[in-house]
Amino acid sequence: MNRSAFVALPLLLCLVQGDQHRPGYDDTPYLPGGQWRVHDKSRPYPRVVHPGDGTAAPSDAIVLFDGTSLDAWAGKDGKPQWTIDDGSLLVTGGGPLHTKQKFGSCQLHIEWRTPAKIKGNGQGRGNSGVFLMSRYEVQVLDSYDNPTYADGQAAAIYGQYPPLVNACRKPGEWQTYDIVFDAPKFEGEKLVKPAYFTVFHNGVLVHDHDKVIGATAHRKLAHYSPHGKAPLQLQDHGNPVRYRNIWIRPLD
Ligand code: MG
Repeated sequence: MNRSAFVALPLLLCLVQGDQHRPGYDDTPYLPGGQWRVHDKSRPYPRVVHPGDGTAAPSDAIVLFDGTSLDAWAGKDGKPQWTIDDGSLLVTGGGPLHTKQKFGSCQLHIEWRTPAKIKGNGQGRGNSGVFLMSRYEVQVLDSYDNPTYADGQAAAIYGQYPPLVNACRKPGEWQTYDIVFDAPKFEGEKLVKPAYFTVFHNGVLVHDHDKVIGATAHRKLAHYSPHGKAPLQLQDHGNPVRYRNIWIRPLD
């Protein structure tokens, strides 16, 4: 029996037999909030998602780049100006790339690689960036034995938080970011809830629910301006960084 049958069967039995035969209880104390009891038998089951193998996209993800097509992307004048080379998306100049679709809170998986041949130093070595909502940057940089200011190294929330640790692989090796982004909320001009980042770099926790102080800024204090959903953006910092296997799960 496949996995969906495993999940569908108990659900079907419940519908046929009613709540009384679902596993669980109806005489236990209510959890805070008062909607569900402890082990409540009528509490809805989470929907089924088939996980991908390894870092492959789960069944409910939006695949933004699979190595073959730039259909999900646009450049500043419309057409995406970067190129697909050997199954990866190569920064080839012309400004940032952004998704056609807009997103808010999300889970994002993205893989990146800086050039194997080291060129430049500090912020000039393998610089790019992943901008959630086109505003909030998780820095991409070759930070393998490449000192720069702490809040500007790889996996930093640029200008705000250094990563908890430096989990960078060597130049030329593929690296992963798994990002949980909680979008800010505005009422009119007023910020009512800031954004938060949780980030894993190569599977290592580097941000644990860090409170974002505003849109990414260089040599300035970040601040918020009200906005709605916005595209995911990748930075062109003039360095030939590559991306692959990009997928996103909207969380709102
Ligand atoms: Mg950058």
